[in-house]
Amino acid sequence: MSKPRAYSVKAYSAASATSPLSGISISRREPTESDVQISILYCGVCHSDLHYVRNEWNFTQYPAVPGHEIVGKVTAVGSGVKKFKVGDTVGVGCLVDSCRTCPDCQAGLEQFCAGMVMTYGSMDRHLEAPTLGGYSQSIVVTEDFVLRIPSNLSLAAAAPLLCAGITTYSPLRHWKVGPGQKVGVVGLGGLGHMGVKFARAFGAHVVLFTTSPGKAADAQRLGAHEVVVSKDEAQMAAHAGSFDFILDTVSATHDINAYFNLLKRDGNLVLVGAPEKPLPVAAFPLIFRRRSFSGSLIGGLPETQEMLDFCGKHNITSDIEMIKMDQINTAYERMLKSDVKYRFVIDMASLK
Ligand SMILES: [Zn+2]
Ligand SMILES: [Zn+2]
Repeated sequence: MSKPRAYSVKAYSAASATSPLSGISISRREPTESDVQISILYCGVCHSDLHYVRNEWNFTQYPAVPGHEIVGKVTAVGSGVKKFKVGDTVGVGCLVDSCRTCPDCQAGLEQFCAGMVMTYGSMDRHLEAPTLGGYSQSIVVTEDFVLRIPSNLSLAAAAPLLCAGITTYSPLRHWKVGPGQKVGVVGLGGLGHMGVKFARAFGAHVVLFTTSPGKAADAQRLGAHEVVVSKDEAQMAAHAGSFDFILDTVSATHDINAYFNLLKRDGNLVLVGAPEKPLPVAAFPLIFRRRSFSGSLIGGLPETQEMLDFCGKHNITSDIEMIKMDQINTAYERMLKSDVKYRFVIDMASLK
């Protein structure tokens, strides 16, 4: 494969683990036969972006351009592109390519492919350079990894669906959450608030667990039937053995065993947050009631499109706070303090 020609666009990057983000010029490939070129209108700010630019997962390549909740308009398509045309409203999430042939790819579960190419922090097969994310004016992605955004949704508020949305939608669907079930969502942040919305839309009885009593009213507005303050032992004990399913979105260290005790026999707790240190797991709460402890990672391309279509049908988007590109460093500091309701989204028109 010969290297395609490249063009330059403005972006925001970090030069090192300790540098603030600032303006830079980066290269994108000219669209090849199967590529879609997208002018980025909005990009959500995910906690992973911050982990990545600060090299907290030890694989960051600098300059680092994060951003994997991308929404924009198609500005050019390669000659072989069938699904998209210029002017379409599209999205790009955490993945921009995969091997296409392994059992995971064949099953539409590209997020588990050993050869998956992440939107940032992977090796770009075309330019033989690290992939660069959505804090930029445009991106070029092979059409199979481009998603359609339903026309009725607010584009800015749809951006976080590409990561926070699918991360919570996928486990709720995989474990068939629905009417008649009691479902817990732990944490009311970017992921948790989407978990509450989806679990409610799927017809479950939804209980939100939070450490902040002040979040109760908002949780109910977002769709929770009940709110439990997790530090209150009496409130926790009142729900013992009653949950079919618990979605744990917390990335900080927390007592997972307290939640196992809330599950019914055969109930399941799924982690989608990624605490830095291993969590101690007590065996008895699991073995005595045949409970399960699982994990889940974003979703594959078919399910991500299914999620977006579901959101279009049910008018579900993220609750967002719009920022300008040059406010990103302050936004990171606020995100670390959970001072956002519930996702920052960058208005990319502000990147000049
Ligand atoms: Zn993310
Ligand atoms: Zn694969």
